[in-house]
Amino acid sequence: MAKYVYLFGGKKNEGNAGMKNLLGGKGANLAEMGSLGIPVPPGFTITTEMCTVYYENKRKYPPQLKSDVEKAIKYVEKETGMAFGDKVNPLLFSVRSGARKSMPGMMETVLNVGLNNITREGLIKKTGNPRFVYDSQRRLIQMYSDVVMEKAAGLEIEEGMGIRQQLEREMQKMKNTRGVKLDTELTADDLKELIEIYKVKVNEVLGKPFPEDPMEQLWGAVGAVFQSWMGKRAISYRRIEGIPEEWGTAVNVQVMVFGNMGDSSATGVAFTRSPSTGDNHFYGEWLVNAQGEDVVAGIRTPSPINESTKTEHSKDLVSLEIAMPIVYKQLYDIERRLEKHYHDMLDIEFTIQDGRLWMLQCRVGKRNGPAAVKMALDMYKEKLISREEAVCRVAPAQFDELLHPIIDPAAEKTAKAIAKGLPAGPGGASGQIVFSASDAVAWAKAGKKVILAREETNPEDIEGMRAAEAILTARGGMTSHAALVARGWGKCCIVGAGVLHIDYHTKKIMLDGQEIMKEGDWVTLNGTKGYVYLGQLPMKKAAEDNPDFMEFMNLCQAIKKIGVRTNAETPDDAARARSFSAEGIGLFRTEHMFYGKNSEQPLFLLRKMIASKTAEERKVALNELFPFAKEDIKKTLAAMDGYPVTIRTLDPPLHEFVPHNADERRKLAESLGISSEEFNKRADALSESNPMMGHRGVRLGITYPEVTEMQVRAILEAAAELIAEGKKALPEIMIPVVCTVEELKDQRVLVENVHKEVCAKFTIKKVPYMYGTMIEIPRAAITADKIAAEAEFFSFGTNDLTQMGFGFSRDDIGSFLPEYLKKKILAEDPFASIDQEGVGELVKIGITKGRSVRPNLKIGVCGEHGGDPESVKFFAKAGMNYVSCSPFRVPIACLAAAQVAVEMAQASKTVKAKSPVRKPAAKKAPAKGAAKKVAKKPVKKAASKKR
Ligand code: PEP
Ligand code: MG
Repeated sequence: MAKYVYLFGGKKNEGNAGMKNLLGGKGANLAEMGSLGIPVPPGFTITTEMCTVYYENKRKYPPQLKSDVEKAIKYVEKETGMAFGDKVNPLLFSVRSGARKSMPGMMETVLNVGLNNITREGLIKKTGNPRFVYDSQRRLIQMYSDVVMEKAAGLEIEEGMGIRQQLEREMQKMKNTRGVKLDTELTADDLKELIEIYKVKVNEVLGKPFPEDPMEQLWGAVGAVFQSWMGKRAISYRRIEGIPEEWGTAVNVQVMVFGNMGDSSATGVAFTRSPSTGDNHFYGEWLVNAQGEDVVAGIRTPSPINESTKTEHSKDLVSLEIAMPIVYKQLYDIERRLEKHYHDMLDIEFTIQDGRLWMLQCRVGKRNGPAAVKMALDMYKEKLISREEAVCRVAPAQFDELLHPIIDPAAEKTAKAIAKGLPAGPGGASGQIVFSASDAVAWAKAGKKVILAREETNPEDIEGMRAAEAILTARGGMTSHAALVARGWGKCCIVGAGVLHIDYHTKKIMLDGQEIMKEGDWVTLNGTKGYVYLGQLPMKKAAEDNPDFMEFMNLCQAIKKIGVRTNAETPDDAARARSFSAEGIGLFRTEHMFYGKNSEQPLFLLRKMIASKTAEERKVALNELFPFAKEDIKKTLAAMDGYPVTIRTLDPPLHEFVPHNADERRKLAESLGISSEEFNKRADALSESNPMMGHRGVRLGITYPEVTEMQVRAILEAAAELIAEGKKALPEIMIPVVCTVEELKDQRVLVENVHKEVCAKFTIKKVPYMYGTMIEIPRAAITADKIAAEAEFFSFGTNDLTQMGFGFSRDDIGSFLPEYLKKKILAEDPFASIDQEGVGELVKIGITKGRSVRPNLKIGVCGEHGGDPESVKFFAKAGMNYVSCSPFRVPIACLAAAQVAVEMAQASKTVKAKSPVRKPAAKKAPAKGAAKKVAKKPVKKAASKKR
């Protein structure tokens, strides 16, 4: 019989930290802490498997569950000496969700389950604190009626009329009649009366009485947690985070401990190291006389846990270290023990009930990119983790955060902050202020950059938070919802900017009673420091300034096996990529000298060449173009001194360069000595109905050999001159869009002839170079054995290979891709992440066949996929020598390369361990797809020839 219920806390801890898939993160870690002898209130976990069974069985439980739960309750009763539903010594439960991966605030929780008009009497006697008991009961009614009776029952209630708001209004009414401001000012009798008012209201609004039976309450709460797995918020969070629906959530039923039993009780959330800087300080927040929800919901601004982490902002608040030194010491010892045990930074939740400490949760803490890098480096130096573990601790998307913009420090120096809040999410961001999640989504869709301002956020705001450049809240602490979510995404965020009064109604922000901002105004945030500025300040890339960046890059470099080059077309790009440790250029698109800065003259000459009719005319234009081409290539080769540079001959269809402007056409006609009519005739003749499959790439070199000759001469002369200047130039001449080896043979003759001429001109024996091709047409991949006979290297052009492999136009996929993704016909954009089973198979065939005739064939990839972490891992496993990507993606490609090296080493160890003695070494096993999915950047427009 399947086991659906696992005990934890006290003597029996049936699970452990390795059982997250079955018990969810929370359940698994509660059992682990219990086994370590750390004080955990006893309870039990209903497995994630039950969630699946529940949904498969039309939301019903198998009969076995009832008796399993009853047995588990007996266990808890025995452990605590209390009884569920007992009028003398009542046991109360908390019922919480717990998925494999934490989904902060996305699912439901019900506290104080088991409390009713009978059990409360026992609790009053036991605690001698009637106010606390009545308060707990009114909280139960409020939570339960909202979560179980309204939300889980699927009632759609108009905005503002939900039961929670209606009960809150009842409470407000009572406060008004009593003439008090705070909830805490209501007396025990007030609360007792309020409970009855609540019950009447629940019956009136929801048409059902509030259940007094503890068992009914418990099953209602368990059901609500399972239901919340399919709630709108959870579905939307799962979509953003890529969490599969099949995982399901577990339900944790645990003895209630109370942080709201008076001034010797408290609750808090802490991190074993700072999640925003990575500093090795015990860091956290606590609230005296409060329940856990009060900290996370951001309703009260909590105090720092200790003296050493106080800030300007919190210097006057009382820390736990001062208020309860003995408990603090105990908590500190536990957090040190836990970090040593888990070898990672942990996020812990605790409650102090009447001076006694209880741990309610521990899990690996979310952190932003800079903090992840710092912790990985520190823990490696502290010998807590190995070098390999260190590089696997940072997700490529987190590493990317180090490259996120910050406010230009020079501009920030002179700017005056209007407010300071808590620095909850890294980097800087500018945008127009909006006041609701739906506006954030709508404005962002319209192409605007927005900053979402809220009093505090809640899980309903998730889509808007995602759409915004940054989030600003007036309330809440570093562990509030906004802070947790933003940190998880590495998004710029400031919380608790309390001086700002955010008015949703007028869509304005007031400061000291004055309007300071209205909807649509620009604002700039420094999420690393917590400063808010009016207007739009200039931004700057941050990576170069972060001292951990290079150190971590060096770790990656030391581990990775596959090379990482860059796609660069300008000496500036080349230099930047070198500063990121790129090991050469994998693609220099020569056509880029005709776009952008200083391109006017070369473009004019190229156009002249294009409009030439005879080879003689063309040669004249090419001779004029030659010095520009040579200079461009020479500068780039020089910037990459000692590193290879793959230079591709002209690729785009020529008509792309033809001017449309009449004046430009006239000038060109003049320079060619022809009439405007003749020029127009020649230009129009170049137009094609399907240019991407037309006269481009090597086809140009075949029809106009003088174009290849000019380019090869520019490459070899630039190299020869650099060598003469004492530099090391390593050009690789690459022929694009090849479909048959005959094309390569044809071009090789030209290349070799030019090489001879250059050697003669420079009176040298040879200019070192390599001759190779792009593999970007499926036929080329399939005939790679033939092609390899003529090519010393292959570079997979996976942009075109995907285009031709799928038959999807690179430039037009946008019209149907969203529907494909929505309907799950494709799992992701194949131009962003390589399609492993189709196009990836072509890549593998190309590699195998190519190396079958030339074992030392150098192979790389220069399509956009070269900077996508998952694709990098695939290419490394396929046996490529290098990947090549745009300069800013070099660091994440390096990290992915290091991570796949670790993965492959582990896989080969496993294979070795499994293979029987004296058998020949087993073939390298493909590593299991264990690599974690990383958050994908928004779909990037596929490269176009017009870029
Ligand atoms: C490719 O096709 O993958 C490639 C790198 O070339 P381009 O994007 O210039 O066509
Ligand atoms: Mg291409």
